[in-house]
Amino acid sequence: LFDFQGKHVTVAGLGVSGVPAAKVLHARGAVVTVVNDGDDARAREQAAELQALGITVRLGDGATLPEGTELIVTAPGWQPDKPLFLAAREAGVPVWGDVELAWRLRGPDAAPWLAVTGTNGKTTTVQMLASILRAAGLRTAAVGNIGVSLLDAVLGEERYDVLAVELSSYQLHWAPSLRAHSAVVLNLAPDHLDWHGSMEAYARDKGRVYEGNQVACVYNVADKATEDLVREADVEEGCRAVGFTLGTPGPSELGVVEGILVDRAFVADRQRNAQELAEVSDVNPPAPHNIANALAAAGLARAFGVPATAVRDGLRAFRPDAHRIAHVGDIDGVAYVDDSKATNTHAAEASLAAYEPIVWIAGGLAKGATFDELVAKSAKRLRGAVLIGADRALIREALARHAPEVPVVDLDRTDTGAMLQAVTEARRLAQPGDTVLLAPACASMDMFTNYNQRGDAFAAAVRELGA
Ligand code: ADP
Repeated sequence: LFDFQGKHVTVAGLGVSGVPAAKVLHARGAVVTVVNDGDDARAREQAAELQALGITVRLGDGATLPEGTELIVTAPGWQPDKPLFLAAREAGVPVWGDVELAWRLRGPDAAPWLAVTGTNGKTTTVQMLASILRAAGLRTAAVGNIGVSLLDAVLGEERYDVLAVELSSYQLHWAPSLRAHSAVVLNLAPDHLDWHGSMEAYARDKGRVYEGNQVACVYNVADKATEDLVREADVEEGCRAVGFTLGTPGPSELGVVEGILVDRAFVADRQRNAQELAEVSDVNPPAPHNIANALAAAGLARAFGVPATAVRDGLRAFRPDAHRIAHVGDIDGVAYVDDSKATNTHAAEASLAAYEPIVWIAGGLAKGATFDELVAKSAKRLRGAVLIGADRALIREALARHAPEVPVVDLDRTDTGAMLQAVTEARRLAQPGDTVLLAPACASMDMFTNYNQRGDAFAAAVRELGA
């Protein structure tokens, strides 16, 4: 165990990770200074709480490295090119994130971690994984980037056999010594590039999840970049590369054969060359990208020794979180589906691939994305499109280039009430058998507090129109 006694530790950032980190380090005898960029009311409140314990807090100055710092523990979102970190590098001071801290503080008989990262599908996959592990009778929890603190899971009273850990690219960047039992990178598409600096740096940080894996590195056969990351990783001896595919699996892969999820990587019975796990219809919802998530979760569970029946039972018991391809109602034979969580083009592409014909509601904050590829791939499925939000012109222009025959309604408003009008317009365009799909491919903050509120507004509009 790491000895913090008398160590000068700087905690960068208050908030959900900084406050508990500061308290734990202080309790372990470290001399803690918290630095924070802002000094608003919330920060002052948190600072007062820590100061009462004897922790030093510097508000409004997150840039200067406090004298004598031996270690920085940072909030995961802090960008690596901040002056604080440049100063730390110059002074040879190590930087840990919240995940690294939890990893270092876990006890000698701590539960192993099954880690999930990727551009899209992380939350769904860790929840499926936890459901499968639970069906196998294991004590487990879905933790990490999903909003449940790893530090709590590691230091709390509760005993676990294994943890299903969701990790963001930021968290992985700051977790140099993490060693998972097994891990998956679900997919890789450009996201958060401003933070990481480049696609290469983003991929490198995602690939960290494979470093030191003990049993299996699970990758996406359809996304070669994930396989490349496995090849570059330095793993424990005997650790296997295991692919998942929506097609027929090769040896050492999980895949789909005639509507059955099949495992060819972890087959206990040497007489057989495949183990049937579950039916496609056991996956909820059985959209292609979600079957991929189920195969990834199954791969990690199987690497941990979970029997096939538990994979099936766990998948059947799984219920997706709100706003992830949620069927919110039907009007006049048209289905209304809320995928407000599709906040980037890669995610929207997945849900657009799951339906046909579609009246697509899209738009919001583009975050620097381009829409040509998404629109070109989805054009033939579109009955029509209704565009909302600040950057809707980018999508309108892409539609004009790649789908000029698709009718487009362009709503020139960004107030919250715009959603009711958008759904009304979508209803006008839709025909019986169609799906009206909210898959914005954009962030929501131009019109809504977050994607939850955007999805709720969509569902409320569908109800108001008679579902
Ligand atoms: P994350 O935690 O990575 O944001 P979620 O499980 O919350 O992922 O899913 C977010 C959105 O990404 C979903 O609403 C869906 O549109 C899309 N999505 C989910 N799984 C995948 C996948 N395997 N590939 C591409 N898109 C996906």
